[in-house]
Amino acid sequence: MTEFNEIKASRRAFLGLVAGGLATTMAVRPAAAAKVQTKARIVMIGAGAAGTALVNRLVTRLDGAEITILDPSAEHLYQPGLSLVAAGLKPASYTRSKTTDWLPQGITLIAQAAAAIDPVSKTVATSGGQTVPYDFLIVAPGLVLDHDAIEGFSLDLVGTNGIGALYAGPEYAAKTWQAASAFTQAGGVGIFTRPATEMKCAGAPLKHTFLIEDIATRSAGQGKHEMHYAANNDALFGVPIVSEKVRMLFEDRGITPHYSHVLKAVEPGRKIATFTTPKGDVEMGYDYLHVIPPQRAPEVIRQSGLSWADKWTDQGWVEVDQKTLRHRRYPDIFALGDVAGVPKGKTAASVKWQVPVVEDHLVAAIEGRDGSKVYDGYTSCPLITRVGRAMLIEFDYHNNLTPSFPGVIAPLEELWISWLMKEVALKATYNAMLRGKA
Ligand SMILES: Cc1cc2nc3c(=O)[nH]c(=O)nc-3n(C[C@H](O)[C@H](O)[C@H](O)COP(=O)(O)OP(=O)(O)OC[C@H]3O[C@@H](n4cnc5c(N)ncnc54)[C@H](O)[C@@H]3O)c2cc1C
Repeated sequence: MTEFNEIKASRRAFLGLVAGGLATTMAVRPAAAAKVQTKARIVMIGAGAAGTALVNRLVTRLDGAEITILDPSAEHLYQPGLSLVAAGLKPASYTRSKTTDWLPQGITLIAQAAAAIDPVSKTVATSGGQTVPYDFLIVAPGLVLDHDAIEGFSLDLVGTNGIGALYAGPEYAAKTWQAASAFTQAGGVGIFTRPATEMKCAGAPLKHTFLIEDIATRSAGQGKHEMHYAANNDALFGVPIVSEKVRMLFEDRGITPHYSHVLKAVEPGRKIATFTTPKGDVEMGYDYLHVIPPQRAPEVIRQSGLSWADKWTDQGWVEVDQKTLRHRRYPDIFALGDVAGVPKGKTAASVKWQVPVVEDHLVAAIEGRDGSKVYDGYTSCPLITRVGRAMLIEFDYHNNLTPSFPGVIAPLEELWISWLMKEVALKATYNAMLRGKA
């Protein structure tokens, strides 16, 4: 098939998919069951992807519930867009909207942070000094980026001295592009890192590497850039078959992997990055350095007694059953999204599959019965490999590939259609999810 025919076929398939996807999105749910009457007090921590999607579904299932959502942030961030901002493909505004634009009528928003959780007295204390009692608690505050864990690094450096840090938010993603675009034009040594902790969208460090290599090669030509990727362990991705595919792509593109290299310190003046490795500390000079710091549950969660005691002890993810997302010690608490202590699932695409599971078990608990839905670890990553090409990688807890469109989108092929899924369709699907409709 020529590239042109391939694109035409892909375009047809894509339009079919979008039509199908929209049909699914817009479909009225099967004969809406009568709402469950309840006076339950439901408190939700976090109005990000997970909290917002869940609250929009709960208001259609429950009648009389007293739902309170806590979030200090006036701004909702579409984080998958940050990778595009940091490659100069979208403006920072592409990722921003108002938190209140997505929340339904009939609930209470407290624009404060949860400051403490007492799972025994069943109360949440807010940063403004309120105490909010609950019958059921939904924990969805995402995660925090521990930039301080990297010696010599501070967010003030982003965009200067050849330093990028796209995870830090829209403004920093735009500054990352300033530093990265200077590197694409001038050439030199680029080093791309990822942390040794669990992280959201583990494909994003790879996407940034591939995009900057592609843009650099197009603008300055081959041979002017030396590209290095520092992996935290002996793999390039958590799913072995995907890791091998990325290794082959790196080989084709001249990107050198450095296994078990974890960024420890930065000296911006000398442009030296220090890595912890099994053989001791290793220094590498750079012209462009992309920093992704360690990631942990927010402090309030780590102090709450809700975290796993014997796993991820430096990270504090919430101790939930991996199938139901219900707390293993406090059955009136659920956690979902990035903060959940499950082996996979720190993506917005995972949230889409986690939300109906929590909804099911929560409504069942209110009715005094058991829920039946199961989360299987579904995680998805449109892994961009060039401007205009991506691989739509989807997998579960057992590292099985779980393609949503078998026969149309091959997971390990670099396709234009998969790029469109990321560049166009993902935001529409994400927004539908926020509204509780996907
Ligand atoms: C660079 C990047 C690229 C990504 N790419 C993709 C992708 O291609 N595909 C994909 O599916 N996913 C992607 N993701 C991941 C996705 O954005 C997250 O997994 C998703 O947003 C998680 O939802 P969440 O609700 O758990 O957390 P968030 O969406 O981060 O929301 C957490 C909310 O909790 C609030 N909060 C925090 N602390 C408190 C507190 N103490 N009290 C009250 N509220 C609090 C915050 O203000 C925030 O509004 C990407 C992420 C990044 C950073």
